[in-house]
Amino acid sequence: MKGRVINKIQGFYYVDCDGEIHECKLRGILKRKENKNNCVVGDNVEISEDNYIIGIEERKNLLERPIVSNIDYFVIQFAAKDPNIDFDRLDIMILRSFFYNIKPIIVVNKIDLLTEDELEEIKRKLEFLVPLDIPCFFISKKLNIGVDKLKEFLKGYTSAFGGPSGVGKSSIINMLQVEKILEVGETSKRLKRGKHTTKDTNLLPLSNGGYIIDTPGFSSVELPKIKDSNELMKLFPEFNSVGNCKFNDCQHLNEPGCKIKDAVENNQIAKNRYEFYKKVYEKLKNERWNKYE
Ligand code: GDP
Repeated sequence: MKGRVINKIQGFYYVDCDGEIHECKLRGILKRKENKNNCVVGDNVEISEDNYIIGIEERKNLLERPIVSNIDYFVIQFAAKDPNIDFDRLDIMILRSFFYNIKPIIVVNKIDLLTEDELEEIKRKLEFLVPLDIPCFFISKKLNIGVDKLKEFLKGYTSAFGGPSGVGKSSIINMLQVEKILEVGETSKRLKRGKHTTKDTNLLPLSNGGYIIDTPGFSSVELPKIKDSNELMKLFPEFNSVGNCKFNDCQHLNEPGCKIKDAVENNQIAKNRYEFYKKVYEKLKNERWNKYE
């Protein structure tokens, strides 16, 4: 039988097989693997009749803090107001998302706190997301605006939620998840006890299929471990579509014949994205890359 590991407590793995939760242990041979992350929340697994995990599918990605695998979307949530959108943080979270090979989506909650003009202004400031192919949802949990559209979008996928505190993440996560899923089916005392301490590392099933998980560590403002400038450029997908610069190894800073700078001049690439690129470049060069040269 196939299923998804949605929780892990004291050597037991809780595997969701079409809505039925199985309490499983790892088959010995899987335990012996050197890597301590041999089976983690998010893994797609095969289980035996007697509830042993006998196979683990290859992962498409693996996050830390909490350790969780196979995430489809990183939902970067902000509030339209209280607290205001932190655009610097948004840039970094988008970068982190691309680094981990997860598609970002943006949710702006609490739009009930804005006038129409204020909302239009925020939408304008977020227009740079369009060429990046990053969907943006403007919602109000309080007035139930736009929530169904978001729900429909996340349906069937596994989404990690991140963002600063106070933006309504818990409210949205509580609303989207299936009520008390872990108390139906085969529930054990262990699971009930563990629930309180491991809430953050649960994959929470959505009422219409798919899962969500709160990933506080992923909202950090730390730059990911980008090893060189080539790797950094790849995290700016809009840089790929403007043609070749005069120099093959152009870093898009002060070189002549730089197509990226031309594209910024022509508004083909958003100025704020280019400024962010330069800022990250300088920071990584000074703090990390120079040390390896
Ligand atoms: P978290 O820290 O991101 O998990 O945020 P919470 O879910 O704890 O919410 C923070 C505060 O924002 C709470 O007082 C919520 O009631 C409030 N809140 C959540 N969603 C909305 C919304 O759509 N509109 C307004 N005005 N307040 C909201």
